[in-house]
Amino acid sequence: MKIVEIRDAVIPIASDIRNAYISFSRMTVSAVAVVSDVERRGRPLVGFGFHSNGRYAPQGVLRDRLIPRLLGADAKRLVDRDRENFDPFAAWHVMMSDEKPGGHGERAVAVGALGMALWDLAAKVEEKPLYGLLAERFNEGLADDSVWTYAAGGYYYPGKGIEGLLEEIRGYISEGYEAIKIKIGGASLAEDLERIDAVLELIGEQRRLAVDANGRFDRDVALQYAEALDERELLWFEEPGDPLDYKLNAQVARASRTPIATGENLLSFQDARNLIRYGGLERDRDYLQFDPALSYGLVEYMRILEMLEENGWSRRRCVPHGGHQFALHIAAGLGLGGNESYPGIFQPFGGFADNTPVEKGRVRLPDAPGVGVELKAPLMDVYRKLLA
Ligand code: MG
Repeated sequence: MKIVEIRDAVIPIASDIRNAYISFSRMTVSAVAVVSDVERRGRPLVGFGFHSNGRYAPQGVLRDRLIPRLLGADAKRLVDRDRENFDPFAAWHVMMSDEKPGGHGERAVAVGALGMALWDLAAKVEEKPLYGLLAERFNEGLADDSVWTYAAGGYYYPGKGIEGLLEEIRGYISEGYEAIKIKIGGASLAEDLERIDAVLELIGEQRRLAVDANGRFDRDVALQYAEALDERELLWFEEPGDPLDYKLNAQVARASRTPIATGENLLSFQDARNLIRYGGLERDRDYLQFDPALSYGLVEYMRILEMLEENGWSRRRCVPHGGHQFALHIAAGLGLGGNESYPGIFQPFGGFADNTPVEKGRVRLPDAPGVGVELKAPLMDVYRKLLA
C-alpha cells in the first residue's frame, strides 16, 4: 500500500470580522488530499485535511518540503505492517526530517494539515469513524457519544453595535448552543463591559459566557480586565496577553478569579510544556486550547496529552481551538472536555457534519469512516474540485 499523489490548494475564508488582534479579510486555508492506492468499493481511498482558521495557508512549506518528503519516502516506511494501515506517526517523522528544533510557525500548521489527511485516510482504511479508531487504540475503547461545544462568536464587525451582537447570540441559542464566547479587547474596557453585560442579561446565567482577548493586553490592562470580569463570574477569560508571555499569564492567572483559557497559539509540544511549567495555570480551574490541526497535528497533540498527564492535568480540561470535525473526533475519541464551534463563519471548513445539529450544547458524531468531510456538502465540494 502506498500514497500515490498529494494535492493541495489555497482556499480563501475571507470575512469582514476582526478580533482584538487581526482582521480576517484575507484569511486563507490549505486544503490537502492524500490519494492512496488502497481501494474500497472500486475507488481509491483519499485522506482529506486542512488546518484551523487564524493561520494563513502554508503552501510553500507543503510544496517545497513536506509533500516531496512523503512522496519520496520508501512506501514501506509509511505503513504500519501489523495493522496493514498507513502510520501517521511514521509519516510525522518523515515530514520532520532535516528540520531543526524550535521556530515552529508555519511548519507546524503544514504538518497539522497533512496530519489530518493521514488520520482520515487511516480511519478510512479500517472503515471506522476517526473517534472510534482513536478510542480503540488510545483510550481503552471508551469514546464519548457526544461532545460539549460552545459558540465562539461576538467578533467585532463594522457597524455591528450591541443590538447586532445580541441578535447574533439569539441565533446561537436558537441553534442549540448553551455556552457562548465573545471577543474583547477590540474596544475600550467600558465598551467591552457593556457588551458583556448585555449578553449576560440575554442569556440569563453566569458561567455560560466566555470572553477572548486574543492575546491583545499588556500586563496592566489584562489585570484591569481580570478585576472587572471577576464580578461577572464568566466561564473563562481567554488569552489575556501574548501567548508566549508565560510570566504575564501567571500574573493574570494568580489575580483572576475567572478561569483562564489559553493555548491555541502555542504550536508545539515544547511551547505547551512551557505554559504548564511557567504559565501559572490551575489544574482544577483553567482550560487548555492547544489545537491539533495547527500544532504539528494529532501526533504532537498526543505528546502534549501525555505531558499533561505527567503534570497531573485531566484531559477534560482540554477544549481545543479550531471548531471543526477533526478536533471533534479527537475530543470524543480521547475523552477531552469539549470542542470549539464557530457557527456560520470560517466556512466551509468550520462546523460539523450536515446531519449533526447541536442539541442542548452538545454535538454527536456521525458513524461514517474517517473525519467526515464527505458528510459536509460545501466542504466536500472543495475536495471534489481539488481532485478533478
Ligand atoms: Mg481564541
